[in-house]
Amino acid sequence: LHVQPRLATGAVIGINQAQAHYLGSVMRRRAGDGLRIFNGVDGEFEAVIGRIDRHGAELAVGAQARAMEAEPDCWLAFAPVKRDATDMIVEKATELGVSAICPVFTERSQTMRVNRERLGAIATEAAEQCERLSVPEVREPVELARFLAAFPEGRELFVAAERRDAPPLAMMRHLQASALLVGPEGGFAPGELDGMARHGFVTPVSLGPRILRAETAAIAGLARLLAAPDQ
Ligand code: SAM
Repeated sequence: LHVQPRLATGAVIGINQAQAHYLGSVMRRRAGDGLRIFNGVDGEFEAVIGRIDRHGAELAVGAQARAMEAEPDCWLAFAPVKRDATDMIVEKATELGVSAICPVFTERSQTMRVNRERLGAIATEAAEQCERLSVPEVREPVELARFLAAFPEGRELFVAAERRDAPPLAMMRHLQASALLVGPEGGFAPGELDGMARHGFVTPVSLGPRILRAETAAIAGLARLLAAPDQ
Protein backbone atom coordinates (compact mmCIF):
# COMPACT_ATOMS: atom_id res chain seq x y z
CA LEU A 1 0.00 0.00 0.00
CA HIS A 2 1.29 3.48 -0.88
CA VAL A 3 1.20 5.83 2.13
CA GLN A 4 2.18 9.47 2.66
CA PRO A 5 3.92 9.60 6.09
CA ARG A 6 7.63 8.95 6.63
CA LEU A 7 8.33 5.36 7.65
CA ALA A 8 10.52 3.98 10.44
CA THR A 9 10.34 0.76 12.42
CA GLY A 10 8.29 1.29 15.60
CA ALA A 11 6.28 4.24 14.26
CA VAL A 12 2.49 4.28 14.15
CA ILE A 13 1.06 6.06 11.12
CA GLY A 14 -2.45 7.14 10.22
CA ILE A 15 -3.99 6.61 6.81
CA ASN A 16 -6.94 8.48 5.41
CA GLN A 17 -10.53 7.45 4.88
CA ALA A 18 -10.17 6.51 1.21
CA GLN A 19 -7.16 4.29 1.87
CA ALA A 20 -8.83 2.70 4.88
CA HIS A 21 -11.82 1.93 2.68
CA TYR A 22 -9.54 0.36 0.08
CA LEU A 23 -7.77 -1.65 2.75
CA GLY A 24 -10.94 -2.84 4.49
CA SER A 25 -13.44 -3.23 1.66
CA VAL A 26 -11.27 -4.01 -1.35
CA MET A 27 -8.31 -5.82 0.21
CA ARG A 28 -10.52 -7.29 2.97
CA ARG A 29 -7.99 -6.63 5.74
CA ARG A 30 -8.93 -6.41 9.41
CA ALA A 31 -7.23 -5.20 12.61
CA GLY A 32 -4.25 -7.48 13.30
CA ASP A 33 -3.64 -8.25 9.60
CA GLY A 34 -0.25 -7.56 8.05
CA LEU A 35 0.62 -5.78 4.84
CA ARG A 36 3.55 -4.01 3.17
CA ILE A 37 3.68 -0.25 2.82
CA PHE A 38 5.91 2.21 0.91
CA ASN A 39 6.09 5.98 0.54
CA GLY A 40 8.51 6.63 -2.33
CA VAL A 41 11.28 7.80 0.02
CA ASP A 42 12.05 5.28 2.77
CA GLY A 43 11.62 1.96 0.92
CA GLU A 44 9.14 -0.72 1.88
CA PHE A 45 8.13 -1.79 5.39
CA GLU A 46 6.10 -4.55 7.02
CA ALA A 47 3.08 -3.15 8.87
CA VAL A 48 0.23 -4.42 11.03
CA ILE A 49 -3.21 -2.83 11.13
CA GLY A 50 -3.90 -1.56 14.66
CA ARG A 51 -7.28 0.07 14.15
CA ILE A 52 -9.46 0.30 11.07
CA ASP A 53 -12.89 1.87 10.72
CA ARG A 54 -14.74 4.04 8.24
CA HIS A 55 -12.84 7.19 9.33
CA GLY A 56 -9.35 5.86 8.72
CA ALA A 57 -6.81 3.37 9.99
CA GLU A 58 -3.65 3.17 12.06
CA LEU A 59 -0.74 1.01 11.05
CA ALA A 60 2.13 -0.11 13.27
CA VAL A 61 5.31 -0.01 11.18
CA GLY A 62 7.51 -3.10 11.49
CA ALA A 63 10.78 -4.14 9.90
CA GLN A 64 12.04 -2.70 6.65
CA ALA A 65 11.39 -5.21 3.84
CA ARG A 66 13.24 -3.39 1.03
CA ALA A 67 15.55 -0.39 1.13
CA MET A 68 14.85 2.46 -1.29
CA GLU A 69 16.63 1.79 -4.55
CA ALA A 70 17.72 4.00 -7.43
CA GLU A 71 14.97 4.23 -10.02
CA PRO A 72 15.21 5.24 -13.68
CA ASP A 73 14.68 8.92 -14.41
CA CYS A 74 12.50 8.78 -17.50
CA TRP A 75 9.39 10.91 -18.07
CA LEU A 76 6.48 10.12 -20.31
CA ALA A 77 4.94 13.15 -21.98
CA PHE A 78 1.86 12.46 -24.08
CA ALA A 79 -1.09 14.16 -25.68
CA PRO A 80 -4.12 12.85 -23.76
CA VAL A 81 -6.33 10.61 -25.90
CA LYS A 82 -9.69 8.98 -25.17
CA ARG A 83 -10.29 8.08 -21.55
CA ASP A 84 -9.66 4.33 -21.68
CA ALA A 85 -6.50 4.76 -23.75
CA THR A 86 -5.22 7.52 -21.45
CA ASP A 87 -5.87 5.29 -18.43
CA MET A 88 -3.94 2.49 -20.11
CA ILE A 89 -1.02 4.80 -20.92
CA VAL A 90 -0.76 5.89 -17.27
CA GLU A 91 -1.03 2.33 -15.95
CA LYS A 92 1.54 0.85 -18.34
CA ALA A 93 3.95 3.77 -18.02
CA THR A 94 3.89 3.29 -14.25
CA GLU A 95 4.54 -0.45 -14.58
CA LEU A 96 7.41 0.18 -16.96
CA GLY A 97 8.98 2.54 -14.43
CA VAL A 98 8.57 6.20 -15.49
CA SER A 99 9.39 8.84 -12.88
CA ALA A 100 6.84 11.42 -14.11
CA ILE A 101 3.81 11.55 -16.37
CA CYS A 102 3.28 14.84 -18.21
CA PRO A 103 0.04 15.43 -20.15
CA VAL A 104 0.80 17.85 -23.01
CA PHE A 105 -1.76 19.56 -25.26
CA THR A 106 -0.78 19.82 -28.91
CA GLU A 107 -2.35 21.45 -31.98
CA ARG A 108 -4.35 18.37 -32.92
CA SER A 109 -5.27 17.30 -29.38
CA GLN A 110 -8.89 16.26 -29.26
CA THR A 111 -9.01 15.64 -25.54
CA MET A 112 -8.48 18.82 -23.56
CA ARG A 113 -9.68 17.60 -20.18
CA VAL A 114 -7.50 15.60 -17.82
CA ASN A 115 -8.60 14.37 -14.41
CA ARG A 116 -5.28 14.40 -12.57
CA GLU A 117 -6.73 12.92 -9.41
CA ARG A 118 -8.10 9.93 -11.33
CA LEU A 119 -4.84 9.43 -13.22
CA GLY A 120 -2.91 9.70 -9.95
CA ALA A 121 -5.10 6.97 -8.45
CA ILE A 122 -4.44 4.76 -11.49
CA ALA A 123 -0.69 5.34 -11.13
CA THR A 124 -0.85 4.53 -7.41
CA GLU A 125 -2.72 1.29 -8.02
CA ALA A 126 -0.34 0.27 -10.79
CA ALA A 127 2.69 1.03 -8.60
CA GLU A 128 1.24 -1.12 -5.80
CA GLN A 129 0.45 -3.96 -8.20
CA CYS A 130 3.90 -4.05 -9.80
CA GLU A 131 5.71 -3.61 -6.46
CA ARG A 132 7.43 -0.33 -7.28
CA LEU A 133 8.77 1.64 -4.35
CA SER A 134 7.45 4.96 -5.69
CA VAL A 135 4.48 6.39 -7.54
CA PRO A 136 5.22 8.59 -10.58
CA GLU A 137 3.96 12.15 -10.28
CA VAL A 138 1.14 13.02 -12.68
CA ARG A 139 1.94 16.63 -13.62
CA GLU A 140 -0.39 19.50 -14.39
CA PRO A 141 -1.27 19.40 -18.13
CA VAL A 142 0.48 22.09 -20.21
CA GLU A 143 0.54 23.32 -23.80
CA LEU A 144 3.40 21.94 -25.91
CA ALA A 145 5.15 25.34 -26.11
CA ARG A 146 5.18 25.66 -22.32
CA PHE A 147 6.35 22.09 -21.89
CA LEU A 148 9.30 22.77 -24.18
CA ALA A 149 10.10 26.15 -22.62
CA ALA A 150 10.25 24.62 -19.14
CA PHE A 151 12.13 21.50 -20.22
CA PRO A 152 15.09 21.06 -17.84
CA GLU A 153 18.70 21.21 -18.92
CA GLY A 154 20.54 17.89 -18.97
CA ARG A 155 17.50 15.81 -19.95
CA GLU A 156 16.92 14.62 -23.49
CA LEU A 157 13.56 14.47 -25.19
CA PHE A 158 12.77 11.74 -27.70
CA VAL A 159 9.82 12.74 -29.84
CA ALA A 160 7.98 9.79 -31.39
CA ALA A 161 7.55 10.81 -35.02
CA GLU A 162 5.93 8.51 -37.56
CA ARG A 163 6.28 8.98 -41.33
CA ARG A 164 9.54 10.91 -41.06
CA ASP A 165 13.09 9.85 -41.63
CA ALA A 166 13.68 9.67 -37.90
CA PRO A 167 16.22 7.11 -36.69
CA PRO A 168 14.84 4.17 -34.71
CA LEU A 169 14.63 4.74 -30.96
CA ALA A 170 16.18 1.28 -30.61
CA MET A 171 19.44 2.71 -32.08
CA MET A 172 19.74 5.52 -29.55
CA ARG A 173 22.10 5.71 -26.66
CA HIS A 174 20.60 7.98 -24.10
CA LEU A 175 21.43 9.99 -21.05
CA GLN A 176 20.45 8.94 -17.56
CA ALA A 177 17.64 11.51 -17.62
CA SER A 178 15.32 11.22 -20.58
CA ALA A 179 11.74 11.75 -21.71
CA LEU A 180 9.52 10.34 -24.45
CA LEU A 181 6.87 12.51 -26.09
CA VAL A 182 3.99 10.84 -27.97
CA GLY A 183 1.48 12.77 -30.07
CA PRO A 184 -2.34 12.63 -30.27
CA GLU A 185 -4.54 10.43 -32.53
CA GLY A 186 -4.05 12.91 -35.37
CA GLY A 187 -0.28 13.06 -34.89
CA PHE A 188 1.86 16.18 -34.49
CA ALA A 189 1.30 19.02 -36.96
CA PRO A 190 4.29 19.38 -39.33
CA GLY A 191 5.04 22.82 -37.86
CA GLU A 192 5.18 21.34 -34.37
CA LEU A 193 7.69 18.70 -35.44
CA ASP A 194 9.85 21.29 -37.22
CA GLY A 195 9.67 23.62 -34.22
CA MET A 196 10.61 20.88 -31.75
CA ALA A 197 13.51 19.67 -33.89
CA ARG A 198 15.13 23.12 -33.50
CA HIS A 199 15.70 22.52 -29.78
CA GLY A 200 19.06 20.94 -29.00
CA PHE A 201 17.56 18.58 -26.44
CA VAL A 202 15.05 17.09 -28.92
CA THR A 203 15.68 13.95 -30.96
CA PRO A 204 12.85 12.75 -33.25
CA VAL A 205 12.71 8.95 -33.24
CA SER A 206 10.88 6.21 -35.07
CA LEU A 207 9.21 3.23 -33.43
CA GLY A 208 9.07 1.19 -36.61
CA PRO A 209 7.44 1.31 -40.04
CA ARG A 210 3.79 1.06 -38.98
CA ILE A 211 1.53 3.77 -37.60
CA LEU A 212 0.93 2.83 -34.00
CA ARG A 213 -1.91 3.99 -31.84
CA ALA A 214 -0.71 6.57 -29.31
CA GLU A 215 -1.01 4.08 -26.45
CA THR A 216 1.00 1.46 -28.36
CA ALA A 217 3.65 4.07 -29.20
CA ALA A 218 3.94 5.08 -25.53
CA ILE A 219 4.29 1.51 -24.30
CA ALA A 220 6.68 0.40 -27.07
CA GLY A 221 8.88 3.49 -26.66
CA LEU A 222 9.05 3.24 -22.87
CA ALA A 223 9.79 -0.47 -23.02
CA ARG A 224 12.82 0.40 -25.12
CA LEU A 225 14.00 3.32 -22.99
CA LEU A 226 13.50 1.66 -19.64
CA ALA A 227 14.87 -1.76 -20.49
CA ALA A 228 18.04 -0.37 -22.06
CA PRO A 229 21.28 -1.39 -20.35
CA ASP A 230 22.54 2.21 -20.37
CA GLN A 231 19.50 3.44 -18.45
N1 SAM B 1 -2.34 10.68 -37.51
C1 SAM B 1 -1.11 10.05 -37.70
C2 SAM B 1 -1.13 9.47 -39.09
O1 SAM B 1 -2.15 8.99 -39.53
O2 SAM B 1 -0.08 9.48 -39.68
C3 SAM B 1 -0.90 8.97 -36.67
C4 SAM B 1 -0.65 9.43 -35.27
S1 SAM B 1 -0.34 8.09 -34.16
C5 SAM B 1 -1.92 7.37 -34.09
C6 SAM B 1 -0.17 8.85 -32.60
C7 SAM B 1 1.24 9.13 -32.15
O3 SAM B 1 1.93 7.90 -31.94
C8 SAM B 1 2.11 9.91 -33.10
O4 SAM B 1 1.93 11.30 -32.98
C9 SAM B 1 3.52 9.49 -32.69
O5 SAM B 1 3.97 10.26 -31.60
C10 SAM B 1 3.30 8.05 -32.25
N2 SAM B 1 3.64 7.06 -33.28
C11 SAM B 1 2.80 6.21 -33.91
N3 SAM B 1 3.45 5.39 -34.73
C12 SAM B 1 4.76 5.71 -34.64
C13 SAM B 1 5.95 5.22 -35.24
N4 SAM B 1 5.93 4.22 -36.11
N5 SAM B 1 7.12 5.80 -34.90
C14 SAM B 1 7.16 6.82 -34.02
N6 SAM B 1 6.07 7.32 -33.42
C15 SAM B 1 4.88 6.79 -33.71
